Amino acid sequence: MQKTTHTPAAPAEAWTGWCDWHEGPSGTAVLISVIEQCSGPGITRYACAPCREQRRLVPYTQQP
Ligand SMILES: [Zn+2]
Repeated sequence: MQKTTHTPAAPAEAWTGWCDWHEGPSGTAVLISVIEQCSGPGITRYACAPCREQRRLVPYTQQP
C-alpha cells in the first residue's frame, strides 16, 4: 500500500511561515482564519506581524 503525497492542513516540519497578505515568506506569520468549504480542505490564511498591524487582523486563536 502506497502512501499518498497529499498533505493535510497541518504545516510541514520545515514550515517557516507564509503571509497571505503580502504573499511572501515570513517568520512571524500566524493563522488568521480558516474558511470552511463544503468539499475539500478549508482555506487557511496567514498574516505576518506588520500586516496584522496595518490591517488590524486578529489571530485565529485570539478571535472570540
Ligand atoms: Zn505580511
